Order: sequence, then structure tokens, then C-alpha cells
Amino acid sequence: MKADRNANFGTQCIHGGLQPDPQTGAVMTPIYQTSTYAQSAPGVHKGFEYARTGNPTRTALQQNLAAIEGGEHGICFSSGLSAMDAIIRLFQPGDEILASDDLYGGSYRLLTAVLGTFGIKSRFVDMRDAAALAEQIRPETKLLWIETPTNPMLNIVDIAELTALARERKVLTCVDNTFASPYLQQPLELGADLVLHSATKYLGGHSDVVMGAVVTRNEELAKRLYYLQNAVGAVPGPQDCFLVLRGIKTLHLRVQRACENARRIVEVLQNNDLVANVYYPGLADHPRHEVAARQMRDFGGMVSFDLKEDTMEAATEVMKNTRYFTLAESLGGVESLIGHPASMTHASIPREQRLSVGLTDSLIRLSVGVEDAEDLVKDLEAALAAAVTVAG
Ligand SMILES: *Cc1c(COP(=O)(O)O)cnc(C)c1O
Repeated sequence: MKADRNANFGTQCIHGGLQPDPQTGAVMTPIYQTSTYAQSAPGVHKGFEYARTGNPTRTALQQNLAAIEGGEHGICFSSGLSAMDAIIRLFQPGDEILASDDLYGGSYRLLTAVLGTFGIKSRFVDMRDAAALAEQIRPETKLLWIETPTNPMLNIVDIAELTALARERKVLTCVDNTFASPYLQQPLELGADLVLHSATKYLGGHSDVVMGAVVTRNEELAKRLYYLQNAVGAVPGPQDCFLVLRGIKTLHLRVQRACENARRIVEVLQNNDLVANVYYPGLADHPRHEVAARQMRDFGGMVSFDLKEDTMEAATEVMKNTRYFTLAESLGGVESLIGHPASMTHASIPREQRLSVGLTDSLIRLSVGVEDAEDLVKDLEAALAAAVTVAG
């Protein structure tokens, strides 16, 4: 009853890697809320011994994740960062990781403040320039850590170009696919060895769970990651696995709607006199629009913009006055969120460095949800107008 490997994406979301519960026929994978499993004689069991090592709800989710990313193996962890930690543990002291220079803040912290102290070095480079990147690869370089689109500037990196370069130089590649989701972008298909997800975001999709996952086609890497999953033990619980399985069943619908809403909002922002710049890979004048159009099905639900009155105060007024856009960190849920990178996610980055990449004081990041577009548009327009009245 497993879905055909060639089935389309929406069908994979609902059926990929899944089958009715073999014990009961339950159509939805049950929550196996147990820490251990009965054995009929020592070492004789039904494939499950202890729930850190394996749990049927987690197994179902892992198979589903593999199917939707076009991989062979999905390996779940208790958060996106613990999934990343497992990947980095594949390497040795002395090895080096080359990562995007506008990386997710938590990934940067893990690489520098935590793993750096264990002798695994990281360097941060602009991955938009493949020729310059090629010169940065040294004998100790073992992994390219790619993120695209990036947060919050929505820069785009050419995945196929970098994976080809890495393969030639015998360097592994991992793409953090959290911002795009597998509905929009399939890095394994573009040559990546590993895909990372913060399932907390679009995969879960309802802002009610923290989880991470790695997907790969590489048998050897998968074996070592399954080993680390059990040996380190940063595993998600069965209830959370159930929630993400449920979330994935509507992934294609949610992301499609978020993209449609984002398009409407971008149009409105571009025509608003108070707005200075709008950052969205779907815009024809986005510097990497062509690359995004090539490697993504659509352009996503993340939008950033800044204000002509470029102050934290002006941005704060906008964010205090939205009704449906909730001021909060995170992204990828059904509800729209609004955030201020300069004071929230990127507050630890020195101002000069932040400004040099376009991350201005008034930059606002939207995670566009799946509400009705008209309401979101009215909400933003009213908040912008209110901000100008106060500032004015
Ligand atoms: C949130 C996020 C992470 C970290 O995931 P957690 O589930 O919060 O640990 C990693 N990468 C990106 C791009 C993210 O947005």
C-alpha cells in the first residue's frame, strides 16, 4: 500500500512511506506512547526494544520525510539544531566546514561557540560566488553548509552549482531546507548529500512542536546518523512525531497558499509610499531571481522589507499595530508572524556588519500564513499608516 515512488508531491505528503497501522488497521499512525517493548525471549522482539532506539510513530514519520524529500532515509531529532549537531558529529577535530555567511543565528552559534571548541573549524563565506568559493576549499574542508533562501535577506544560493563543485572536490554538501520546505525545493535532486530541516517550521506547520530532521540517499551517512540518533539520544517523542506527520499531510496546500498570499503582500508593499525596499525572490529584480525560478517551484512565504523612515522606532510602531501578524520569532506556521531581526533574531550581530548586508534598523520580516490575503493586506496597510501617524 506504500505510495508509488513516482507519485506527485501532494500524494507523497499524504501517503509517502506510510501504511495503515499493521496491528490495528488504524489509518492514521497511532501515537506509540511507550518507552519499552515486551520481548518473548531475551533478544526476541518485533523490531522495537527501547524507544530512544526506535518508536513506530517516529519510524512512520522518518519514512514519510524520506519520501517528501526524495531521499532514502529520514532521521529525526528533538530540534533542528540537534539534527545539525548530529551532522557535524560525522566529522573529526581538524576538519573544516564552509558555511554561508548569512546563516541562521542558531546554526552560527552551534558551529562557532559549541563545535568550534571541539576542534571542528568553521569558516563563513559568500556562497553566491561559486568561483570565489572554489578557492576557499582546502584539504581539510569536509562539508559545505548551504542555506537558501537565507534569513532575513532572502538571498538565494545556486544549489546545483555548489553541489557540482563540492562533488568534484570530494566535499560533502548539506542544504538547510527549512525556509523553502520540500514542496518548493528538493536539494537531494539538485545533488546535495544531506538535507536538514527545522521541522518546527513549515513541516510541523502549526507552531506547536519543536523538531529537526535529516534526509539523505547516502546509505553510509544514514547508518552513522541513525547510530548518533540512538547513541546521543536527542530524539523527539511520539506525540511530537504524530503532530509533524499530521502537519506534513497539508504541507503542499499550506505552502502553496502562503506563496499566493506572499505575492499579494509583496505587490502591496511595493506600492506603499512608506516602504523603501522589498526583499522577495519572486521579484523580477531580485538579484538571484533566475536561480530561484530554476531551483524552486514557487518563491515562498517569507518576505522582508524596510521603511523609508529607517529607525527602530518606526519599525516598532508597525509591529505594535498589526492584528493578524503576531509579533513573534519562528516562521512557517498557518498563522502570519511579524518580526524585527535587528532587535530579535540578529540582535547579537554588530550594527555595522548588519547594515553591510542590508539588514537595516527598520527591516521587518514576515512569515506569511494561510489566512485570507485581503485581511493580511488590510492589516499591514493599517499598521503602516498607524506608524506614520505616530511618527509623523
Ligand atoms: C529554526 C531554524 C533552525 C533551528 O531549528 P530548531 O528547530 O529551532 O532547533 C535551523 N535553520 C533554520 C533556517 C531555522 O529557521
